[in-house]
Amino acid sequence: IEKEADVVIIGGGGAGLSAAVSAHQNGAKKILVLEKMPKVGGNTIISGAAYNAVDPKRQKAQGIEDSVEKHYTQTYEGGDKLGKPELVRTLVENAYPGIEWLESMGMKFQDEVFTVLGALWPRSHKPVDPLGTGYIKTYMEYIEKNSGSIEIMLDTKATEIIMENGRAVGVKATGIDGEVVARANNGVIIATGGFGANVEMRDKYNKIWPSLTNIKTTNHPGATGDGYIMAEKVGANLIGMEQIQLLPMGDPETGSLSGNIEQGVENRIFVNKDGNRFVDEGARRDVMTKALFEQRDAYMWVILDKHSYPTGDTKNNFNETIDELVNKGRAYKADTLEELAKEISVNPENLVKAVEEFNKNVETKSADEFGRTLYKDKIDTAPFYAGARVPTVHHTMGGIEINTNGQVLDKSGNIIPGLYAAGETTGGIHGANRLGGNALVDTVVFGRIAGKNAATIK
Ligand code: ADP
Repeated sequence: IEKEADVVIIGGGGAGLSAAVSAHQNGAKKILVLEKMPKVGGNTIISGAAYNAVDPKRQKAQGIEDSVEKHYTQTYEGGDKLGKPELVRTLVENAYPGIEWLESMGMKFQDEVFTVLGALWPRSHKPVDPLGTGYIKTYMEYIEKNSGSIEIMLDTKATEIIMENGRAVGVKATGIDGEVVARANNGVIIATGGFGANVEMRDKYNKIWPSLTNIKTTNHPGATGDGYIMAEKVGANLIGMEQIQLLPMGDPETGSLSGNIEQGVENRIFVNKDGNRFVDEGARRDVMTKALFEQRDAYMWVILDKHSYPTGDTKNNFNETIDELVNKGRAYKADTLEELAKEISVNPENLVKAVEEFNKNVETKSADEFGRTLYKDKIDTAPFYAGARVPTVHHTMGGIEINTNGQVLDKSGNIIPGLYAAGETTGGIHGANRLGGNALVDTVVFGRIAGKNAATIK
């Protein structure tokens, strides 16, 4: 099958669809999205969906002080200064305009911001629709309205970027009806996501963690890192590939984030199988996960109370009610901490002591022995809840090197004409550790930039 478009996009997740909309808004007449799975959405649609942005409306109403500079510093330093400063700057400066862009297309965010795990500051926005569905729904509504210009081919796996005289001019793919050759008159965008679900590739690049061979992942099965292979073949530079992000928040059976009972970092603690705390629960994701690996069986319990679930039908970030989780045996509920400890087989004295000490620190809001500073309510009101969690592979920070236009760079730092990349497939933004709530910003901001430039740069 032969196809022709102004812009050809590989991957129909958050970054790819953001790019498709943006390319259309910036004048591209024909846009083709190739998606290897039977549906769009990628990791974006199953993500916790938190979006960090300094927000003049919501944060002000909540009395939260913040600045773009602080978002910049936390992102850059929280990644051990391994990100490219100009990319980090582009991310944080365009974060709130990204929210306004999504809202202009009908997307709804909740009125209050919160602190998602590893976000380090209360600037995480939560969509009204569950998980990441709001982003994908918003893009798809736009795409369906403009279906004469934007085409999505599902079950179509890109295999190769076609080059002519050093310029990317198209994509080869395998679809249901055989080979697809898609000619791109103006630009090709790689938006294939990360390699969290590719165990071999993880093992190849992992230098930082203990063996990841048997660690599960939060990722969808299509997150196999195809983009790196295609990009490398045409000379792209890959950076930071060893930077693999784990979360201490995996379901022990599946590795997925579902069943995670936390509702923001301020109101819960983590205890190990002995009932003892072991880390600052508001720390960086890598810090918390490293600490969890050192606990018995690398296994922990999230402990919280009624403050997080005022009623049994209150939902977590994954659209599950706490009653539902308790009924399925995925969370535990009790009227006292001693009973809760018994249910989850941890030492009751230790658990009670851990909570008592935590509650003292909530009063003074002072840094505790682990350095924790983020507090809101005490854990003192029944019912009390516990949920088990283990380390899980979540995000791959490294990837294709780009500049602030989303243009792909080669090993000498030169632009590869006609070739763009956006989203998790790129490297150089999150450094050694991605702040919670920065990935969706990455897809929106850099998808938008890549789409615009692939449509307009000749
Ligand atoms: P991001 O958040 O960066 O957009 P996602 O995981 O949300 O990443 O989306 C990436 C999308 O790219 C997924 O839907 C995935 O199935 C798709 N994809 C990955 N490899 C290919 C490929 N070789 N051809 C077409 N689509 C691909």
